[in-house]
Parts: sequence; structure tokens; C-alpha cells
Amino acid sequence: MGASRVENAEKDVKIGLECHAQLLTKSKLFCSCSTDYHDAPPNTHVCATCLGLPGALPVINERAIRYGIKVALALGCTIQPMVIFYRKNYYYPDLPRGFQITQYEFPIAFNGMVRMEGDGEHEREIRIKRVHMEEDPGRLVYRGTIDTAPYSLVDYNRSGIPLVEIVTEPDLRSPKEARIFLGKLRSVLEYLGVFDGDLEGALRVDANVSVQGGNRAEVKNISSYKGVEKALLFEITRQKNLVRRGLTVQQETRHYDEVRGVTLSLRTKEFEHDYRYFPEPDLVPLLISNRIEEIKQEIPELPDEKKARFLAQYSLTREHANALTFDIHIADFYEAVAAQIDPRLSATWIADVLKGELNYRSSSMREASKRISPDDFVVILTYLKKGVITERGATEILREMLDLGGKPEEILRSKGLASIASAEIEKAIQVVITENEAAVEDYKAGKTEAMHFLIGQVMKHTRGRSEPKEVRRMLEEKLKGNHLNE
Ligand code: ADP
Ligand code: ZN
Ligand code: MG
Repeated sequence: MGASRVENAEKDVKIGLECHAQLLTKSKLFCSCSTDYHDAPPNTHVCATCLGLPGALPVINERAIRYGIKVALALGCTIQPMVIFYRKNYYYPDLPRGFQITQYEFPIAFNGMVRMEGDGEHEREIRIKRVHMEEDPGRLVYRGTIDTAPYSLVDYNRSGIPLVEIVTEPDLRSPKEARIFLGKLRSVLEYLGVFDGDLEGALRVDANVSVQGGNRAEVKNISSYKGVEKALLFEITRQKNLVRRGLTVQQETRHYDEVRGVTLSLRTKEFEHDYRYFPEPDLVPLLISNRIEEIKQEIPELPDEKKARFLAQYSLTREHANALTFDIHIADFYEAVAAQIDPRLSATWIADVLKGELNYRSSSMREASKRISPDDFVVILTYLKKGVITERGATEILREMLDLGGKPEEILRSKGLASIASAEIEKAIQVVITENEAAVEDYKAGKTEAMHFLIGQVMKHTRGRSEPKEVRRMLEEKLKGNHLNE
């Protein structure tokens, strides 16, 4: 792969991400507390172990380890034979034990690779340095912002939730590439069924960035994709300004203030020896080498493979194949529809129309599938194909279903969306021509905008139950005829 334009323009920017993803187990990593805390009052999903009370012992959650290995395999990593946990010692109010149980020299895996569309057309390969398991600390809640809050509150419901941490090499070249990477990562994690990106705080990122070979700053704990991109944009500008003024960038840890869109210095970078890492004496090393083959069998078809298959099997455009495979819920929905009706028509209506409607509502396919099933969608497309409804009618049914629910058959009837016969369109055209002599003259004199006006009038008279393309054809025919008669 040759150096691309983007790489030349941005080659002085290096970005490496440390991504912490919550794994969808039923219980926490080292105790049996439920992980289903998102709608629960603070400090209701806790026990002696995840509160860090003296003498409480951890027990490893087997499923969490399996999920971690799945993630590492899906990212093309080499799995290590043993899982060994360490204590990382530091004090913070969200960490009541005074140490976090994490991994250190022996993470579950090293050396993976993520392929993604770059910032530009070319494909990029982002190396994964390591994947390891750790427990989530609790959550501090500030009144207002971190630096002005009069006090903070702590909620330990999240303490002990299993995290998989994915560390990239500094291969990303722009904030936009960082965002694309996170999107791809989310996609893979959701395909594996071990992660739900819609849950609040499900993915948190530490973003490392340096410019022109200088020191790197680490922006800690950013919890949205847009936040990562914006924090990096701010940080690159800040660092470049320092360099321009002949100053050096400090190696330090910074905080991203989401509200003000700035990064602020928290502390100069701590070093590993500061943490006094040592093996967790309350947990035995876990031999996993004999389980890897079995876990490999559980890896489903991943986004890249699915995209290649969709391209071949359904003759889709690259854009449609991308749009339909990014989100596993959309991919599954598409396949269920395409099994019953024209796959290319389905692709257009799902990738372009349905996804557009979901974006507009800030909704997801998983949410929407409570209201609309693939079978409903097939009914709508069948109406459309048979000319029972117009494209606009189909969109209206879809909107109604997304907003209020209901079945396509009922909405078709209750909203009177059935297309009308050409005889009725003919009648509407006659009325419009008689009522709009000036526009008709303009059209005949070569003013093409007049045609749009006339089509609009006919659509209005037929209340959208006629297809604009068909109306145009009939209008043109009619006006050409008139012309010859004169
Ligand atoms: P440390 O052990 O000091 O924390 P790591 O090698 O584990 O450093 O890297 C931590 C993160 O910082 C990784 O995501 C890595 O890609 C990133 N990183 C390392 N060097 C740079 C750099 N020069 N510029 C930007 N990011 C970097
Ligand atoms: Zn607990
Ligand atoms: Mg590190």
C-alpha cells in the first residue's frame, strides 16, 4: 500500500487508543452481583467483594474470560496460554480497595490487526498491541463539572463490571480515523454478542496523541465517539501551537471537558513503577490454552466477511454492502427481508430509507425492531412493487410504524395511501392544466421549472397517491399533444 495523500498531510500526527469495553456478562468479574445496573438506584448492585471490604475474596467469572478471548480472536490476536491477574495499586475514591485487579505482563493476547476504511478511500490496517481483562472501578458523579463541583458522589454499581481493554499501536493518523476505528471496533464487538454500544458508558477511551515526533499526551476516559474525535482535534491544535512557539509538549495525562470542548492538564504522566504492580495473590493463574480451539468455533461471521458475502450473494453496491453490514441488527434484518423479496430493492429501502428514518429519530435498528418486523417490511415492499402504493406512501407507512406502531395493512387503509388509477390522475391533470394556464404557457415556452410546479399541483390534487415520475410522463404526453393540436 503506497503512502496516501492523507498520510502525507497528517504523517506528523500519531494516535493510539486504549479502549475499555464493558462485556455483557450476567454477573460481575469477581463476584455474583448483577451487571444489570443501568436503571438501578446508586449502590444497589454491590457486595463485600466489589465494595472492596477487607477479607472479601474474588472468584473469576468464566464467561467474562471466554468473552475476552473471543474479542482477542476476532481482532486477530495471538492468545497467551495463561490468564494471570495483577494488582495495580493506586488510591481514588471510585476504587475502594486501593488497587484495581487488572492484567500486566501476561495479558490474554498480543498482536492483532483491524482493517478499516481510512480517512479517504484507501483501506488501512491498525495494529492491536494487546488485549487484556480488568475490572471497572465505580463511578464518580459530579455536580456540574469536575473542576467546579462543590462535592462529588460515588456509585459502586459499576465497580467490578468486566472490561476488555484493547490497546492499539499509534497507527491512527487523524481524529477522523480514530472515530472510524471506534466504529469498526463497536461493530466487531456487537457481532460477537459480547457488547452493547447503546448502553451508557459501554465504551470508554483513553486517547494518546503526539505531533511531529514530540511527547504524547493521554486524554483520559472519553465516553463518546464524537468526544474522542473532538478531544483529539483540540489536542492536536494545542500541541501544534506549542511547537510553533518553540515550546515542548509535556508527557502528561489530560481530562476532556465535554461541555467546553477543551482538554485540561490533570497530572504529569505517572510511570508504571508508581503502581507497584504484583500478581494478585487471591487468584490462581488460569490455564486457557486448552480452551482456545473450542472458543474459535463460537466466532460468528464478522463484518468484513459478511460484507464480502453480501457483495457476491446479493450484487449490492459497495456503499450498500457497507451500510448493511456495519450493524449486526441491520444485517440480520436485511437478510430476513432479502430472503423474501428482491434483494436490491430491499437494500435501497433498508440502507437508504430505513436507516435515514432511524438516524432522523436517533434510533437504532434494535429499538426499531420492536415496532417493525422483516415480514412487515416485506409487505410494504410488495405493495410498492405491485403499484398498490407510491414511494411516498411506502415512506409514510414506514414512518407511522416507527413512530406509533401498527401494521402496514391497517395504515394503508386508515391513511388512504393506496395509489390511484391513471384515470384519476388523468382527471387531476386536466384540472391542473385548466387552472394554471400561465404555467402551461411557460412550459411550452421552454421554462422547465414550470413542469416541477405542475407536477407539484397534480401531486397535491391526488394527495400524494400518484408517483411523480408517472405524473411527469403523463403531463409531458398531454402537453405535447396540446401543442400539436394548435
Ligand atoms: P505506556 O506503557 O507508557 O502506557 P504503551 O506503549 O502501552 O505506553 O502505549 C500506550 C498507548 O499510547 C498506546 O495506545 C500507544 O499506541 C500510544 N502511543 C505510544 N506512543 C505514542 C506516540 N508517540 N504518539 C501517540 N500515541 C502513542
Ligand atoms: Zn459484588
Ligand atoms: Mg499502557
